[in-house]
Amino acid sequence: TTHEEGGTSGTSRPTPATGSWGKYAERFGGQLVLVTGAASGIGRATAFAFAEAGARVVAVDREGEGAARTAELARLIGAPEAWPETVDVSDEAAMEKLAEKVAGEYGIVDVLVNNAGIGLSGSFLDTTADDWRRVLDVNLWGVIHGCRVFGGQMAERGQGGHIVNTASAAAFQPSKALPAYATSKAAVLMLSECLRAELAGRGIGVSAICPGIVNTNITATARFAGVSEQEENRLRKKSSKLYGMRNYPPEKVAGAILHAVLNDQAVVPVTPEARGARLLSRFTPGA
Ligand code: NAD
Repeated sequence: TTHEEGGTSGTSRPTPATGSWGKYAERFGGQLVLVTGAASGIGRATAFAFAEAGARVVAVDREGEGAARTAELARLIGAPEAWPETVDVSDEAAMEKLAEKVAGEYGIVDVLVNNAGIGLSGSFLDTTADDWRRVLDVNLWGVIHGCRVFGGQMAERGQGGHIVNTASAAAFQPSKALPAYATSKAAVLMLSECLRAELAGRGIGVSAICPGIVNTNITATARFAGVSEQEENRLRKKSSKLYGMRNYPPEKVAGAILHAVLNDQAVVPVTPEARGARLLSRFTPGA
């Protein structure tokens, strides 16, 4: 295995030395952890961190090859068992089928990480209804399906558990550049807080992770509304460069996800600009 292959982002940056998640084996060892969007970026890094802590990992992604690679590497890193599942999280029937299969073959999920997401930039007026639907289908409905099917099983089992949803700093940071993406993430943040209130009495924690700019493949696949294909490619390269410059590694977000579960944190801004934005976000009091 080369460093590049084991990496979690599409850049040539070598994989950082594995973390020290082994020390959490007492907490996560043998637990069943399901991560969506696990073929790359934050999801893959999260699968690896839980693997190092000895968890059994289900790596879900619509990219089957990437999911298979994540599962394979997770086993090498220390997961006693790891399975890839090729599923589109926006597909309700497929998610229900996945939940049935996982419960039947692997068990009830102890930690669910709804992380799959796609990027969409472009002004509000340039964003078509189809663009809105696509981003809401994956970023919002994907999380809703995950919470419903796996959260339902957790609640029914009655032995607690934890759900982590990957929102974004965009959830509390109004922007002219990504209205649809920001709206999808604000909805994920609110649904996480509502579900947290509902499940608190049943020993199930819910956390919303809100990263700022993280160096992953998301810029390579992000769509830009209202521009020509050529312009879209140019913008993609430009934003990839910006993300690379910040160079915040997905492994650190994975660490924040493990800590959110360990400490049952509600809303977790990650990266310096996300923490700043969260501190500044205040509603103006009414009369
Ligand atoms: P990434 O593109 O590297 O990883 C996203 C993964 O999700 C990919 O493997 C992709 O195949 C998968 N995916 C996309 N749509 C899917 C679908 N419908 N069904 C199943 N899998 C699907 O990007 P990333 O940065 O690791 O993104 C992970 C999450 O973090 C996303 O929700 C993203 O919005 C969020 N996020 C990223 C950043 C950042 O700067 N990179 C910042 C804030 C939040």
